[in-house]
Amino acid sequence: MNVLVSACLLGLKCRYDGNDNKSDELIKVISIGYNLIPVCPEQLGGLSTPRKPAEIIEGRVINIDNEDVTKNFFNGANEVLKLVKLYKTELAVLKERSPSCGFGKIYDGTFSKMVINGNGVCADLLYNNGVKIIGGERDKRIFWIIVY
Ligand code: SF4
Repeated sequence: MNVLVSACLLGLKCRYDGNDNKSDELIKVISIGYNLIPVCPEQLGGLSTPRKPAEIIEGRVINIDNEDVTKNFFNGANEVLKLVKLYKTELAVLKERSPSCGFGKIYDGTFSKMVINGNGVCADLLYNNGVKIIGGERDKRIFWIIVY
């Protein structure tokens, strides 16, 4: 079974600040018996690492210097969708709260770590194309239930 995973959860240093969100527990669970497809939609959209943090504000993705990076985010999401179709992937484990990968809750656009209901650009596109999405942290127990 192919599982798409936010690359930062697997330890790739693709986060905006050049770090990762590695989860050893998650890796332990999903690396056995599954083909993992690491993706970073923001990098796939042409953004560099490190890059300026961005959040969704009224449907646009704006970085902390008030530059509109919406196009990059949508381009990256579309690249991820191509991989989903290529590898016939039905499940994605994504980093929570991210303006790309967040599902259900995302940062609120004030760069203050506050969250609101909503989906990141990539998570939303995948969800609308039938991919089941699981948060890499909050839903870990749910992931265990689904997998085992
Ligand atoms: S876009 Fe997704 S995979 Fe890339 S650093 Fe942000 S949360 Fe991680």
